[in-house]
Amino acid sequence: MNVAESEFAPLLPPSDIGQSDHAVQFYESDDYLLESVRAYAAVGLVTGEVCLVVATSEHRAGLEKRLADGGLDMVAIAERGQYVALDASSLLERIAPGGAPDAERFAAVLADIIETAAGGRRLRIFGEMVALLCCEGKHQEAIQLESLWNGLRERHGFSLFCGYPLQSLGKESLTELHRSICDEHSHVIPAESYHAVADAGERLRVIAELQQKAESLQAEVEERKAAEAALQQSLRLRDEFLASISHDLRTPITVLQGQAQLLRRRALRDTLDQNAILLAAEQIEGRSRSMAALIDELLDLTRLRAGEDLPLERTRLDLVQLIQEVAAERQEYGDGHEVLVLAQPVNAGWWDEQRLRRVFENLIGNAVKYSPAGTQVTVRIIAAAVGKVTVVVEDHGLGIPAADLPHIFEPFYRAANADRRTSGMGIGLAGARQIVELHGGRIGMESTEGKGSAVTVELPLEPGRGEA
Ligand code: ADP
Repeated sequence: MNVAESEFAPLLPPSDIGQSDHAVQFYESDDYLLESVRAYAAVGLVTGEVCLVVATSEHRAGLEKRLADGGLDMVAIAERGQYVALDASSLLERIAPGGAPDAERFAAVLADIIETAAGGRRLRIFGEMVALLCCEGKHQEAIQLESLWNGLRERHGFSLFCGYPLQSLGKESLTELHRSICDEHSHVIPAESYHAVADAGERLRVIAELQQKAESLQAEVEERKAAEAALQQSLRLRDEFLASISHDLRTPITVLQGQAQLLRRRALRDTLDQNAILLAAEQIEGRSRSMAALIDELLDLTRLRAGEDLPLERTRLDLVQLIQEVAAERQEYGDGHEVLVLAQPVNAGWWDEQRLRRVFENLIGNAVKYSPAGTQVTVRIIAAAVGKVTVVVEDHGLGIPAADLPHIFEPFYRAANADRRTSGMGIGLAGARQIVELHGGRIGMESTEGKGSAVTVELPLEPGRGEA
């Protein structure tokens, strides 16, 4: 029965929680909480106060065992009405039937309990209803209940002890909640990891370490937020990309379907002549080729992004002829653009024909796509240095804003002034750069918004040492 106060000294001395104080104990393990509550309750019980415990069944059982093990005769104490234990969740249901505490019910129910239990004696209460609310994620409701307790405490004058498991407050977003909980209490008792250090000098070191941890966690949170923003941006780009690719595949399919229907109608009407068949075949071939090229481009991009090798299929290739073919085709599809090819005599090179065709289809295609109808696009083929050929594709169109220019070769990147109605996926330039670099060459873009752009491609005629 004799409980020396000094026994509780390493924890916040419960004797320090005076009448009408409101203390909060944060804890990491149940053992620590129970030891703390035992100390708080025991001091009251040995001095003739009434102890009201509103806790979970496990905590009530654990507490009662500890009090008894500490030498208190709990049967006699209960018989004297000095120890009253209630179930926290049942009481919570009574005072917060809709999930949030009801001020009137709280006042009525608790006033009744307190008056009956205390019967004129001093009262100390341990309560866990707030912790239950917090564990359910009802943080505002927990704070609301704390302030209802404060109001009641002022009227009835008892001391109140609350326990919050740290895990229920662990997240960064709950820092604010932690502060609000502390604001509702007159005493704040940190969790056990702090009390485990007895020496005052060592405690200062622990605080310094915690400050450093808080600082680095804050930095980590910032990094995570930045990574999250980058992820959101790439998800947005991917969605735009999917919308765009669907559109770019849908359009030629519509043409193919149209041609098939036309052929069928004419065959049924017997008006299918050789010319009509040839024209339809040409359209079908052209559209199928562009779809196949688009799919190849996507496959290349995916392989490269997955870190796979992209073996080049090199053959002896006349670049001037290839560019002239691409230019003629683009001129045909353009809006009355003139695509002018100015070629110096250059030697044939040892290149991958399909892939270089794709590079120049993209560059000349962009020059046409991003410049007004009827303007000129110039393609210069220059024998700039021995063993190399340089191609410059120049237009007098939209140009690229200075802020976008450094990113323009990144996959899925589109400049801010690229009209969203202009179909495009932002993979053409990225693919072009990869192909040119695989050939041991270089690609660059100069551009002025509102004036026009010039893309320069430099290709070595032969593969360098160690190149595919
Ligand atoms: P896209 O399919 O969007 O045209 P690209 O990778 O070929 O994709 O080009 C990336 C972006 O670079 C385009 O969306 C556009 O904003 C810009 N761009 C490329 N070429 C030109 C050009 N000749 N003039 C203006 N902007 C261009």
